Amino acid sequence: MEINENSQFIPQEKILGQGYKAGEGNNPADSVFNKVLPNALTAKSDELFSLARKSSLWTLSFGLACCAIEMISTHASHHDLDRFGIVTWPSPRQADVMIVAGTVVKKMADPIKLLYEQMPDPKWVIAMGSCATNGGPYYKSYSVVMGVDHLIPVDVYVPGCPPRPEALQYGILQLQEKIKLDARNRDV
Ligand code: SF4
Repeated sequence: MEINENSQFIPQEKILGQGYKAGEGNNPADSVFNKVLPNALTAKSDELFSLARKSSLWTLSFGLACCAIEMISTHASHHDLDRFGIVTWPSPRQADVMIVAGTVVKKMADPIKLLYEQMPDPKWVIAMGSCATNGGPYYKSYSVVMGVDHLIPVDVYVPGCPPRPEALQYGILQLQEKIKLDARNRDV
């Protein structure tokens, strides 16, 4: 048994493994890429495209009920969605995101599906408010669809009746995160 300068016993393993970083594991292999091209940044093209996509989301401008007022105010100057690269767009043919803001009555089911189908891929959908999420105050009403996800796929749900603009902003930030993660996790 050996003793160090503070009169403490040194464990036997430390002495046997001296000079080999015992208990810490071996060094990872050198990156050949970093040796050939030092300071170069590498990324999958999918991830680079996703950075561009998430920072230039164009939302289709249409509203169904009271939640639409909150959506409009989220786009207005006080909350200023432009700083995230988000603008409203009047045509589905160039839009990336559909924000379903309001009560989805059965009469509107077909027009919503048509607008969704007119949007080019890749596209995303946000269900804003409890009506678009699950029927909200009109739960089990004869005239209301119990959530827009019965018609089209939804990526983000924003709770509230109505959700405040900050809640919609947070939902959009979550969608941006999802776009980034989907690209990272996609099989090559
Ligand atoms: S969730 Fe509330 S505020 Fe939004 S559309 Fe439905 S009733 Fe109106």
